[in-house]
Amino acid sequence: MRSSDQKNQEPFHACRLQENIYSVTILPQNARKLIYSNQMAIALITGITGQDGHHLTRLLLAKNYEVHGLVTNERDIRYESFVSKYPKIKLHSGNLSDYESLVSAINVVKPNEIYNLGALTFVGASFNEPEHTANVTGLGTLRLLEAVRTSAVKHEIRFYQASSSEMYGLVQEIPQNEATPFHPRSPYAVAKTFSHFTAQNYREAYGMHVSSGILFNHEGEYRGYEFVTRKITSNVARIKLGKQSRFSLGDLEPKRDWGYAGDYVEAMWSMLQQDVPSDYVIATGQSHSVQEFLEATLECAGLKGEISDFVDIDQKLIRPSEVPLLIGDSSKAKRAFGWSPTIDFNGLVELMVKNDLQIESKI
Ligand code: GDP
Repeated sequence: MRSSDQKNQEPFHACRLQENIYSVTILPQNARKLIYSNQMAIALITGITGQDGHHLTRLLLAKNYEVHGLVTNERDIRYESFVSKYPKIKLHSGNLSDYESLVSAINVVKPNEIYNLGALTFVGASFNEPEHTANVTGLGTLRLLEAVRTSAVKHEIRFYQASSSEMYGLVQEIPQNEATPFHPRSPYAVAKTFSHFTAQNYREAYGMHVSSGILFNHEGEYRGYEFVTRKITSNVARIKLGKQSRFSLGDLEPKRDWGYAGDYVEAMWSMLQQDVPSDYVIATGQSHSVQEFLEATLECAGLKGEISDFVDIDQKLIRPSEVPLLIGDSSKAKRAFGWSPTIDFNGLVELMVKNDLQIESKI
């Protein structure tokens, strides 16, 4: 194990009492409310090593937060690269399926803000493990909220719930906003819908500061390779570099509102800086099909030809129930805290293609 990991296993309560003379000047006006006199604001993130965890960790460290993450086993070798990238963070063993571990994490970390990003996030896989998905992605949120509610500091903790546009499923209106009814189409979406309503219930029943971000698909350089955007950009990069000639996809027709994950974590943080908790749609307001993402990627990589020159359609990749169209209206977030995306569809494709060409040319 690396020495930075060993350092991160030291008790951190000593560290959280440290004075931080910079916090008052560096943190924005509206974040100061969260700081105990001269201490740093403290965040606890579940699912910290996922895509959004990467972006959020970077954002919070830049805002001078003390960042803690909940991981299934902090000594696991898989977390080493994450800690080496962000040596200031502290990882704690815990699991959304284990209530006691959540109580203990909250007692030890004493966070000002909790970001619940932990979940089994891949929609396709949720059809194969519906019970596990319900337990972690659904009941996990309930356990974490209950751990906050029963803590001595429930009104000092602000809670962010990662809700998902997948909850809209078979959409009831176009575009989708915070008032659009849900029609989930996968075990993942059903579990997220349960979490969304549970978060609302804790806000209403106990007056807790709980906000949900209904984030539409958001991608980028940390996106998992199982998601369609990353699957396309990484495979196209390998084709461009002459490492392979073809790859397989499922349904090319579904349309998604794809944004850049780096923009979306800014919205998460902003939600917790509002005096009154609420739910917000975060989206670009533009929708493109999988086929359009594929075509834009091929063009960006300078590959000419028909789709069938590069891609096979594999029926096994087609889902039992599909979400044909998502397009979000994030005007509430714009009004409340001025959020709007900085990277559009073509910018996102370019960023991901460049990133994968760079990665693939080194392997
Ligand atoms: P999702 O919107 O959270 O399900 O994000 P994904 O990136 O997993 O999928 C986006 C859309 O791409 C869905 O409608 C999928 O059915 C479709 N799709 C088509 N081919 C593939 C594939 O090979 N992998 C994935 N992950 N999705 C695919």
